[in-house]
Amino acid sequence: MVFLLVWSSVFLSTKLADQLFDLLNWPEVLYFFEGQIPKNSAGRIKYKEHPFWSQKYCPSHERDGTPRCCSCERMEPRDTRYLLLDDGRKLCLECLDSAIMDTHECQPLYLEIQDFYEGLYMKVEQQIPMLLVERQALNEAMEGEKNGHHHLPETRGLCLSEEQTVTTILRRPVIGAGHRIINMITEPYRLTRQCEVTAILVLYGLPRLLTGSILAHEMMHGWLRLKGYPSLSPEVEEGICQVLAHMWLEAEISVPAASDVASSSSSSSPSSSSSSSASSKKGKRSDFEKKLGEFFKHQIESDTSSAYGDGFRIGNQAVVKYGLKRTLDHIRMTGSFPL
Ligand SMILES: [Zn+2]
Ligand SMILES: [Zn+2]
Repeated sequence: MVFLLVWSSVFLSTKLADQLFDLLNWPEVLYFFEGQIPKNSAGRIKYKEHPFWSQKYCPSHERDGTPRCCSCERMEPRDTRYLLLDDGRKLCLECLDSAIMDTHECQPLYLEIQDFYEGLYMKVEQQIPMLLVERQALNEAMEGEKNGHHHLPETRGLCLSEEQTVTTILRRPVIGAGHRIINMITEPYRLTRQCEVTAILVLYGLPRLLTGSILAHEMMHGWLRLKGYPSLSPEVEEGICQVLAHMWLEAEISVPAASDVASSSSSSSPSSSSSSSASSKKGKRSDFEKKLGEFFKHQIESDTSSAYGDGFRIGNQAVVKYGLKRTLDHIRMTGSFPL
């Protein structure tokens, strides 16, 4: 995961008590500073700001082990406890709200992703098993693959081609004392090769929108393999997979947020019941979930890596210009994006 940390400096004269008071009233800042607010050599206060969430924090927290949410990247404030997953990741409570915790719970979302592909005339005929796994199982499966894969520093999903045994999460864990999860039930799952793709694996415990975008990405790897595409450069392959993940997120967050649905339904006539059931099928988004979806889109758009970042930006431009089908046809023939 790439952090784009924007340096943001505030210059406060220590004599201006009012301004200092304003700063301390900023909730996030208040949580992070303890006692003395650190000053630089010029006697100025310097803080960092997250480029999307605008969460402000003292730069020292990048080195002092202050946990970040593994999904939204926000730092754990002093007065809130994040959930500790058993592989060491931390999850904020707002992300936990829509987190998908086991393989069974993820099936409806997997069907939605399959529908999404079908809606793009890219139906995947083969039944590819999809399993939710812990970080360790994901890394082991990655090593069990013969062909080179391209990866982000933190792998969150995989599309497998080899026959392997994968440890999958059978039943969702329970949140125990100290905001740790307990009673996670896992089971070995033997993958057999029915086609070019043996399984899609996704890291457990991530919010629905992130899980869905990972699934949409991995499904595209599977689609390319099943449709007999030649092996592609990392930039083209990861790029087009990110384009699909981004498209899915965009489609999801265009569904009205829960607050919009509530305000419009109060004035709606009984005849509009069919449209409300259509929106409930997709699930009503909370305002935070919508914001989170925007964040995952922002992460894809601003990724600085050449495979995922540049690949997405070039691929997205091609799709905007020529459409998805023509872009894919061009990739199949030339191995590159149409310019
Ligand atoms: Zn979070
Ligand atoms: Zn990929």
